Amino acid sequence: MSDVFVRVALDHPLPTLFDYRCDIEPPPVPGMLVSVPFGKRDTVGLVCEVSDRSDVPSDRLRAVNAACTACPPLSAAWLKLAAFAADYYQRGIGEVALPGLPQALRDATRWARLLAPEERYRLMPAGRDALPDALPARASALRRLAGVLAEAGSLSAADARALHLKAVATLDAWLAEGWVERDVIEAADVRAAASDAPPADAPPATLPTLTDEQTAAVEAIRDADGFVPFLLHGVTGSGKTEVYLRALAGLLAADPRAQALVLVPEINLTPQFEAAFRARFAALDAGAIVTLHSGLAEGERARHWFAAHTGRARIVLGTRLAVLASLPKLAIIVVDEEHDPAYKQQEGLRYSARDLAIYRAKQLGIPVVLGSATPSLESWWQADQGRYTRLTLSRRAVADAVLPAIKLIDLEEEHRRGRASIDGLSGPLIAALKSRLERGEQSLVFLNRRGYAPVLSCDACGWVAGCPRCSAYVVLHKPERAMRCHHCGWESRIPRACPDCGNVDIAPLGRGTQRVEETLAEVVPGARVLRIDADSTRRKGSAQALFSDVHAGEVDILVGTQMIAKGHDFQRVSLVGVVNADTALFSHDFRASERLFAQLMQVSGRAGRAGLPGEVLVQTRYPRHALYHALARHDYVGFAKSQLGERRDAHLPPFVYQALLRAEGRTLEAALAFLQQAAAQLSTIPAAERVSVYDAVPLTIVKVMHVHRAQLLIESASRGALQATLHAWQPMLRTLKGVLRWNLEVDPLDI
Ligand code: ADP
Ligand code: ZN
Ligand code: ZN
Repeated sequence: MSDVFVRVALDHPLPTLFDYRCDIEPPPVPGMLVSVPFGKRDTVGLVCEVSDRSDVPSDRLRAVNAACTACPPLSAAWLKLAAFAADYYQRGIGEVALPGLPQALRDATRWARLLAPEERYRLMPAGRDALPDALPARASALRRLAGVLAEAGSLSAADARALHLKAVATLDAWLAEGWVERDVIEAADVRAAASDAPPADAPPATLPTLTDEQTAAVEAIRDADGFVPFLLHGVTGSGKTEVYLRALAGLLAADPRAQALVLVPEINLTPQFEAAFRARFAALDAGAIVTLHSGLAEGERARHWFAAHTGRARIVLGTRLAVLASLPKLAIIVVDEEHDPAYKQQEGLRYSARDLAIYRAKQLGIPVVLGSATPSLESWWQADQGRYTRLTLSRRAVADAVLPAIKLIDLEEEHRRGRASIDGLSGPLIAALKSRLERGEQSLVFLNRRGYAPVLSCDACGWVAGCPRCSAYVVLHKPERAMRCHHCGWESRIPRACPDCGNVDIAPLGRGTQRVEETLAEVVPGARVLRIDADSTRRKGSAQALFSDVHAGEVDILVGTQMIAKGHDFQRVSLVGVVNADTALFSHDFRASERLFAQLMQVSGRAGRAGLPGEVLVQTRYPRHALYHALARHDYVGFAKSQLGERRDAHLPPFVYQALLRAEGRTLEAALAFLQQAAAQLSTIPAAERVSVYDAVPLTIVKVMHVHRAQLLIESASRGALQATLHAWQPMLRTLKGVLRWNLEVDPLDI
């Protein structure tokens, strides 16, 4: 018998594979998971290569403990995707491949149970009625179990155990009362994902007749032969979703095993999309459409992942993490709202799901559709160059629906004419809100700042409430009666008087969503005001419930952050008010204008979608600013052209490629010293001759949680030179000391 060696990727920052001897029969194949000893522990790794030799001396080689035979191996194409992402983003393959796998796969002690039948407890109507009264108020663990069960409808024994240790015993007691029922699902079914989703509604009797532009787009995608990247530029409400649905229908019908991956930027958008896809693909059974995002319970996410991996799921709908799902028969990828910064992961493996989607499509030779009303300048530039195929939807799809009229309210002018604003809301905006209320139409007020006020300060001595751990002000949260740091989470009570001089007249400066909500209730009497932001939707499922209230017409004025701007198809919103957008005009971040323009176009796009004439009022001190002019004319194309001109002149992306080295130290000096040494190393790397190196600088919020942060930007007109530099630099960086942490980010979005 010849020797077998495997090269295994582990979730470890070293970008190497680890060699092991392998005596198990039959020997594992690439793509399989194995349990291996690592240091003093056992860990789970991914077999990348199998060989009959190893360069590691045999006395230093350890042996594989076991292989996971219950999970079919990951495909060669998937391994290649993981290897590419690891290489491009300068991480280890294991750091890319392993974190996205279901927990049950990453724990070898659970492998045996992968094939064991799964027990699920289902809440019965009797239980729904009886449980709230039957549980003592102080039995918080029981109440939590009942709450989760009530929200999800059913719960697997494994998920229940994860809640607390005795949960299964409790559920068995409830079973005896007739409050829950227990289903036993055979292993094959568990892995092939019986979805918990209710069966879809009947399919619509008639599909909408496509507009000519939609027809052209659908045909182009359907006729795509091999890898074709499409940039679907469609104004808000132009029916991009309908284009995705038709294109998918064509491809899925053509091949009964084909799979589609649809990415959305936000968890909150998945229910709306899932409903649309279930309704349209009602002929597929419920398990053939699955979602993948971080909001799923562990067991659910595992089942959905397996459904994708085994080919049972035909449509996978998910947030950025879904781009790394295993999809053996992937035939098309859709990236909706492709410009959204949420596609960029901001920690760990700092990848762009949009960019990986392009790579994946190219690797597989399949079409990829990037959709947006305001494409990223990167994608727009690719289309300008002819590398992406542009598809345009220039009009709204619903008959009679036109783009809203966008008007600027000049705050200086209002002031000069003696027309006072009430706590930041101008006269014309208040009047417009009142007229919508009278007509029974909905309004939306957008501002990108949550909390009550961004600062609390003392007029008498100039004291400002700051975070003791960060170089940042703390935000006043009135309903919670707290001051909270948005960078580290530090919280304290609101002081009654200035801690420095004792003045009791300390006042909030500026305004956030809570304050606007409060003001709206006063200035538009009788209006039902609802606030949606990260604070009001902290609880799982609550965002979904709040958005349903809006759709059901139970809200007159919706106030919120960018959460309300994205993608929602509100039918009765006819007015959008924009408050406080000006600050982004003067940001030091060269992407701030692009982002502001996209946000304002998106939020404006929520008005007048179903044929009600829509109006957008933007309060500003700079009504002559070019950005607002382009916005008022709905002129994305003109805006993109001028921005790209500026970027080219200033040598900024997409005309150069960038990478960022960040360091975190106990002092700012330590962080900066580290970066200066790192910069000096670059002069020894040949490829770095084509790379420019900037000075090391502190981050805008330099201190977070007592840690000081600084960064060093490098860039090159050649992606290849930048990549070669990073590869040579990494091992040198590992030899440097003196900081707590450092990381490299490729194609950073926030600089
Ligand atoms: P977008 O994503 O481009 O902003 P949506 O896909 O949300 O737009 O579509 C906007 C509205 O237009 C939706 O209510 C959708 O049902 C409707 N719609 C889409 N295509 C058509 C069509 N061809 N005819 C009539 N209504 C359509
Ligand atoms: Zn004071
Ligand atoms: Zn803080």
